Amino acid sequence: MTSEGRHIEVRGTVQGVGFRPWIWRLALESGVNGRVSNDSRGVTIEAFGTEGALDTFLHGMRTAPPPAAEIRSLSWNAIPPEDTGEFVIVASRLSEGLEVSIPPDLATCGECLAEIRDPSNRRYGYAFTNCTNCGPRFTIVREVPYDRPATTMAAFPMCARCRAEYEDPADRRFHAQPNACPECGPRLQALSADGELLLGTDPVRWAARALVAGLIVAIKGLGGFHLACDATSPDAVARLRRRKRREEKPFAVMVRDLDEAESLAHVSPAERALLESTERPIVLLARKETSGIASDVAPDTSLVGLMLPYTPLHHLLLAEAGRPLVMTSGNLSEEPIACGNAEAIARLSGIADGFLVHDREIESRCDDSVARLIAGRPTVLRRSRGWVPRSIPFDAPFSEPVLACGGHLKNTFCIGLAGAAYLGPHIGDLENLETLTAYEEAIDRLERFLRVRPEVIAHDMHPAYVSTVYARGRSGRKVAVQHHHAHVASAMAEHGLSGPVLGVAYDGTGYGTDGSAWGGEILRVEGAAFERLGTFRPIALPGGDAAIREVWRIALAMLSDAYPEGPPRDLSLFSGIDRRHLDGVDRMIAQGVSCAWARGVGRYFDAFGALFLERPVSRYEGQVAAAWNSIADESEHDSYPLVLDPSHDPPELDLRPAVRAAVSDYRAGRGPARISARFHNTIARGTGALVRRAFEESGVVPVVLTGGCFQNDLLTRRIIEELAPASVFLHGRVPPGDGGLALGQAFVASAIVSRGGN
Ligand code: ZN
Ligand code: ZN
Ligand code: FE
Repeated sequence: MTSEGRHIEVRGTVQGVGFRPWIWRLALESGVNGRVSNDSRGVTIEAFGTEGALDTFLHGMRTAPPPAAEIRSLSWNAIPPEDTGEFVIVASRLSEGLEVSIPPDLATCGECLAEIRDPSNRRYGYAFTNCTNCGPRFTIVREVPYDRPATTMAAFPMCARCRAEYEDPADRRFHAQPNACPECGPRLQALSADGELLLGTDPVRWAARALVAGLIVAIKGLGGFHLACDATSPDAVARLRRRKRREEKPFAVMVRDLDEAESLAHVSPAERALLESTERPIVLLARKETSGIASDVAPDTSLVGLMLPYTPLHHLLLAEAGRPLVMTSGNLSEEPIACGNAEAIARLSGIADGFLVHDREIESRCDDSVARLIAGRPTVLRRSRGWVPRSIPFDAPFSEPVLACGGHLKNTFCIGLAGAAYLGPHIGDLENLETLTAYEEAIDRLERFLRVRPEVIAHDMHPAYVSTVYARGRSGRKVAVQHHHAHVASAMAEHGLSGPVLGVAYDGTGYGTDGSAWGGEILRVEGAAFERLGTFRPIALPGGDAAIREVWRIALAMLSDAYPEGPPRDLSLFSGIDRRHLDGVDRMIAQGVSCAWARGVGRYFDAFGALFLERPVSRYEGQVAAAWNSIADESEHDSYPLVLDPSHDPPELDLRPAVRAAVSDYRAGRGPARISARFHNTIARGTGALVRRAFEESGVVPVVLTGGCFQNDLLTRRIIEELAPASVFLHGRVPPGDGGLALGQAFVASAIVSRGGN
């Protein structure tokens, strides 16, 4: 049998995920000799053996990579055979900088879990157990290349037994950078409310007892602190809400295992896969009536956000507590998640009754990710821990590195480099100094990891966004990208589409090229260019931002528009509003003073929700809109009349007939569930009309659905049905809302830079 040689290059997330030892074992099984090494772009293999052995080797590589690895490309070419006699793992060379892939944090694997549950194992009950298939990664990395001394595990020299595992290619812990055991690794501590060390107690047992007793415990996790309490105790949940000043936003709940998840919510096979995925996001699920979870955990919605334990500490704690636990970000509302011990004690001591901490530092803040099924498809709504910094491949490589600064709410940023885009962790709403600081630090860190300082800076067109102000302060070429153009481009980037596409971009608000607030946009996009082919008739926001909170104002404005003879002020919504206040807003609308104009579909959700749920105020962005979505009765298929008005440029969808018909329904005693469903169906029908008209103008092209409104499962499904048989693309790995904006900004900036124009 003659020997052959192959040079194999593997690209993707293949470093720090147990890829090389797996290759080593595969080579052994296939009867192949040679070597494997990490390089700056992934993994390189030189393999020697018979043709059959090499084919088996390559086949194995394609069919069953390690769970956390993501192979983006695998290519090979023939090289002269060598007689190496064995297969070896070559130590990491210092990389040259491009396409370094630091892996994301990985949920505890089954083998490690079995060890911490096995009384005879040396890692029994050890909260920092990990291996090459699981454990902390991104959140502990200080520098690249990713090696133990460059992580916050550098403070823990490995003991002889851990070192032996680390050096044995046949061991599951071969080159597992955070490898640790009770003898040499990080340790837990229990602290009182003022941060005093509690001695003589098992920290996990102490925390579990405190939680069962109804107390609030701050727990150090992977990417920051959680605030935890008993999810089945209405008192504990109410106390946490009060102290955290998070009056009504839903809390996430951690459950022990799938069985417990299924006792609390309806879980489909696709949702189960999402819950169990190595990213371990919070998954939004339909809550069961009988769930036993305090109703205050997620008021206002039929959904509940559940997640499975993703660190050994979580597994131990949940087993000990024996009940589902609220696990919400350890911060005051609107501030970034706390991640240092001292910082947490300073910031959370007024909230938590005690702390469960450890001595491994968190280098990068990284909130829990959120995902759900939309139109049957897993969709990331908040892309952070577990995904960051996994890259998104770009078909057309960036000719120059790009920093995209993202939006204002739910901010993430993005760095485009060579053939990939790297989205940073969820930063949150850029509305205070703490968040701005976290934003700047996170950008600096990712730039350091990627060894790049982009000179092309993409940002939103809104002049007052903090991210825009940050962009202006950077040196280099600035590229302002229209908000909805960026939304559409984000979906295009995700699917490798260069256009033309028709983008349906629906959200609350985005700055338009005319300076007004857009948000119900039909855009034809091709690379760096877009054309606006349809929109919604604007409604007034009396008092501007005040109307986004006091949604009754938008409802009144919408009624004023729909009833030229004067809005019906006898509707229940207005009965609780002070008369003079109501008159004042009425005058604002009639005279058009202190009014911004908005075309956002989200604003119609606000207005309809306010009116027919009789809810005057949104306590957080989108609250009433989400409640309006949640209540819809899906068995209802009727819709309301509407008009597509071609006399405007671009044509406008006029919902005034729908408003009047819905008010008639309401007066006739139809409940909000039916009115809401009809409203959803109406938006879908209107979208169909807008899209078909745009097709007439520009030919039939693929459609992408994007913007915050497409977190709404029912609306998305109805629009897909309406547009059939057109081919429709949805978001998946990247949020449809503003959390995905930066990817689109990077896409547009790249298109502009590479064609050399502006
Ligand atoms: Zn493991
Ligand atoms: Zn050890
Ligand atoms: Fe948006």
